[in-house]
Amino acid sequence: MPDYDDQNIFARILRGEIPNDTVAETDHTLAFNDITPQAPLHVLVIPKGAYVDYADFHMNASDAEIADFHRTAADICADHGITDTGFRTISNAGDHGVQEVPHFHLHLLAGRPLGRMLA
Ligand code: 5GP
Repeated sequence: MPDYDDQNIFARILRGEIPNDTVAETDHTLAFNDITPQAPLHVLVIPKGAYVDYADFHMNASDAEIADFHRTAADICADHGITDTGFRTISNAGDHGVQEVPHFHLHLLAGRPLGRMLA
């Protein structure tokens, strides 16, 4: 796993160097709208800690950070009324997963039929 690059765009958002359209914020987690939305709702949920990807976060973050992260994502679903209509979460990782921003994040997509996607 590559070292964490503290100049990545989400690190800069967390430091307040780049603006974001915040959807939710807690002690451990920030969620904001994707700049290039792929669905009517396209939120990026990120931990405030410096974790490169899914494995780094879930292997090295504290239980409190992990619980807060997933609870925040679920709260956003509830707040937007999409627990009934449905939604999709995605976390790209590494070269094969085509992760562009090397700070762990969850894409939360909703607001239209999303089709079947496993490839
Ligand atoms: P990845 O390919 O790493 O899973 O997804 C990165 C996501 O970050 C993309 O959906 C892209 O649109 C989004 N993104 C890249 N730069 C910015 C930015 O400056 N602000 C916001 N809000 N989203 C960004």
